[in-house]
Amino acid sequence: MLETHTTPAASIVPESAVRAATPEVARMLTGALEGRELQFSDAMALCEVQGADLDALFSTADELRRRETGDVVTYVVNRNINFTNVCTVGCSFCGFSRGPRAADAYFLSLEEIAAKASDAWDRGATEVCIQGGLPRDLDPWFYRDILRAIKRAVPGMHIHAFSPMEIANGMDRTGLPLREYLALLQSEGLGSIPGTAAEILDDEVRARLSPNKLPVSRWVEIIRAAHELGIPTTCTMMYGHVETAEHRVRHMLLLREIQRETGGFTEFVPLGFVHPNTRLYRDGETQAGASRREHLVVHALARLVLGPAIRNLQVSWVKMGLDLSQACLEAGANDFSGTLMEESISKSAGAAFGEYVAPEEFRARIRGIGRIPAERTTTYGIRQIFAATDSADRVPARLRVAGARAPHPPATGY
Ligand code: SF4
Repeated sequence: MLETHTTPAASIVPESAVRAATPEVARMLTGALEGRELQFSDAMALCEVQGADLDALFSTADELRRRETGDVVTYVVNRNINFTNVCTVGCSFCGFSRGPRAADAYFLSLEEIAAKASDAWDRGATEVCIQGGLPRDLDPWFYRDILRAIKRAVPGMHIHAFSPMEIANGMDRTGLPLREYLALLQSEGLGSIPGTAAEILDDEVRARLSPNKLPVSRWVEIIRAAHELGIPTTCTMMYGHVETAEHRVRHMLLLREIQRETGGFTEFVPLGFVHPNTRLYRDGETQAGASRREHLVVHALARLVLGPAIRNLQVSWVKMGLDLSQACLEAGANDFSGTLMEESISKSAGAAFGEYVAPEEFRARIRGIGRIPAERTTTYGIRQIFAATDSADRVPARLRVAGARAPHPPATGY
């Protein structure tokens, strides 16, 4: 595969790119540009395209992004708080979890969690994203108490918290039925739910990755119930491990179906598998994550499959790095994710892209690809558009080096 075919060609207008594609691929892409919904067989075919067809796919995804969300690229100023790394679930793709007696096991108190949220607020954050491991002896009401502690310390902070796996865990521990438990969390300040623990929504794949994790039906049930109660969620897909192209396509189609019914997804976040420190990789059961081409195709395909239903497509810089994230923003994506401030899950799995990106760096990176930066809220309200260059902005020299290539990305976890 030539490098020219693994770099989105933002300058190519879609019509000429589509004309250069083979007739069958041109038919599919033209249909997408004309607003026809991409079906399973065409999505499968697009997973395999090469050469001029690949360029046409990227160009079409970029054009659809422009039509659906414009030239603004958003980011959120937020802080991740992973309150414990103690977990008994045992997912083979996870490099983050520890046993309770591990030397580096930790568990943050409610006071420490609230202090981190206050510090984030003082540094301009509008959101805290809270997830953690699932220890055996977790207090049944701990998730509720986290919400109370944060809202007491910083009432204005948006709390984006608790994966469907954690929601299921809280229900099991408290004995409350699903809707009652979600309504309780909502009344205590839960603003939205991360659609993590999705991995690949296929029970055979889940049995290989994490047999103790909630099945597809429960993940979907929790997400639907949250949406019905007016709690928005994100949705995610972890790729680049044991799954096939068919799993990825069926996963996206299921998300599209849910969104049609509920309208509750705020964004789709593809999460490349970060392999180095995972049992799945050490045991030789998976490749070393996704290739650059696969990362780009997943983002482009997501724009074509999901775009009209789920408009916001986020890049995960912590999984892919900033350079490859920029490339994905030219292949259909429109959101740069969050500043994070601290990040444990991907770093523990072996990601090497740091824990914090300053808003100025996001803005420089966005301007570096000719787009317009904007800070957003968790639910995609625009807080500020940065139309003019601010003095702190700069395009890092490495982005200006002709022919510079992103390092091969590590793959992802969680
Ligand atoms: S992915 Fe989450 S649930 Fe699975 S082992 Fe890691 S911390 Fe536990």
